[in-house]
Amino acid sequence: MMYKEAKEMNQQLLAWRRQIHQHPELGCRLPQTTALVKKALDDMGISWEEIGPCAIVGVIGKKEGKKILLRADMDALPMGEETGLPFASECDGVMHSCGHDCHTSMLLTAAALLKKHEEELQGQVILMFQPDEEGTDGTGARMMVENGLLDKYKPDVAVMAHMASDIVKTNQIMLKSGPCSASSDRFVVHLHGKGGHGARPHQSINPITCAIKIAEAFGDIGRYEVDVQEPTALSICTFHSGTASNIIPEDCEFTGTLRTFNDEARQFTLDRMQQVAQSIADAYRCQLTFDRPRGVPPLINDPEFSQQLHTWLQETIGQEGVDIPPMSHTKSMGSEDFSFISSRVPSCSFSVGSTSHQEQVYPLHHPKIIFDEDGLAAGAAAYAQAAYSYLTK
Ligand SMILES: [Zn+2]
Ligand SMILES: [Zn+2]
Repeated sequence: MMYKEAKEMNQQLLAWRRQIHQHPELGCRLPQTTALVKKALDDMGISWEEIGPCAIVGVIGKKEGKKILLRADMDALPMGEETGLPFASECDGVMHSCGHDCHTSMLLTAAALLKKHEEELQGQVILMFQPDEEGTDGTGARMMVENGLLDKYKPDVAVMAHMASDIVKTNQIMLKSGPCSASSDRFVVHLHGKGGHGARPHQSINPITCAIKIAEAFGDIGRYEVDVQEPTALSICTFHSGTASNIIPEDCEFTGTLRTFNDEARQFTLDRMQQVAQSIADAYRCQLTFDRPRGVPPLINDPEFSQQLHTWLQETIGQEGVDIPPMSHTKSMGSEDFSFISSRVPSCSFSVGSTSHQEQVYPLHHPKIIFDEDGLAAGAAAYAQAAYSYLTK
């Protein structure tokens, strides 16, 4: 039922999607995107409120009964678009290359379908339109949770969608169970030594020498101190120091990222990194500053809820022609800030197939990525059907 109804709304779905795509916005500054979302919700007669900058929550159904949260992110990326599409970005250096324009328009479409069936719902649908998913430390979802999203609306379960442009086929909805996306923590190691002439190192304290030892030791923590069965990625991604080949610099700084699927391994590794860095800095007579801004937890799909959702989607939109392959258990070392919700509420994330018909396909965040719009109706239907099944069965 929902797939047929979503296809009937396809023209509106694509109009929303193209308008958002043409006017991409960054972070928590989404004036045009949120104006579109608010107007669309108003036109549908759906009440909403803003619980933070460009953070919109809408509700459908009744307060008594079960509650399901459906989430879409709305922000774009700071990169130029090279797709050549007629509705390509009009904003220099900003592009919807992660498909969040698709997520927003699919959730609006699902909202319209659920509003139409509002009388049948034995509970409430919570629509979460979030800013700043691409922010460095997962700020958008965390901000909404800190502003009371879960405490006030009290969802029993939560669902999110993400476009998949290169693995999942158009008109396919891929559900995942268990660990899905890794945690993500940034670290910044700053070493202060004593500068001087390159010819007289004994009169200086070279912070570069010390930084190299710490960087090597970090690799050993990942290799030898974490259970090999726990996938861990520890990468050093910047390293800066010095100005000339005959000057020993005062300072050296390097940064990197840690990814895991296990909160215990994550905390352990970060703690050990700090201890080891401090010991080496002391040994080399450098002053250490070790920053680890609060990162994003791993995204784990609740196995029971995900299995239930898989069955429902197979029995409903699966019968209408949407391909629902067997549950996937693949994981990605990438991160997803929906984990601020999934770590508190049983959740499921699903991938919406949108592999373009072109010969060459590109990954997310690529300037030439083209999402096949034929896959969007299935994504909207999956959102709507998840909520409808949960609130009517
Ligand atoms: Zn992204
Ligand atoms: Zn994304």
